[in-house]
Amino acid sequence: MSIKTKALTKSIWVFHVSCGSCNNCDIEILDCFTPRHDIERFGVQLIGSVRHADAILITGAMNRKSVPRMKKIYEQAPKPCVVVAVGQCALSRHMFRYSYNVREPLDEILPVDLYIPGCPPKPEAIISGIVKLVEKLNKGK
Ligand code: SF4
Repeated sequence: MSIKTKALTKSIWVFHVSCGSCNNCDIEILDCFTPRHDIERFGVQLIGSVRHADAILITGAMNRKSVPRMKKIYEQAPKPCVVVAVGQCALSRHMFRYSYNVREPLDEILPVDLYIPGCPPKPEAIISGIVKLVEKLNKGK
């Protein structure tokens, strides 16, 4: 495991991007940081700039406007950067699949490392997904 990947497993700083979600997935992500769920006990912190991010949490179905913006955001992130698709829209475009404005799924645009399904996924599912991701990185997979 490279030292950069090892550093990722210690305290993941996450940047959250909504690419056209209905906002329920975004609310569930924010819920993870409340005292009730307290994802920070695993060293995970929500940050305001992608330039400091170890992981990007993406919600919503990618649309014509969000695709170029999302690519630009990903380019600005330091590498390695883990991409996490949160919610059914980010996974498969869900009910917006046949919308005139929605094009390819997220994993055809960016290299997605983790999929967290649900509409919206519960905070427990998001926390479990991120913890599993850290375990996977620790095993060097
Ligand atoms: S997966 Fe469901 S809750 Fe999340 S953005 Fe899509 S429609 Fe909204």
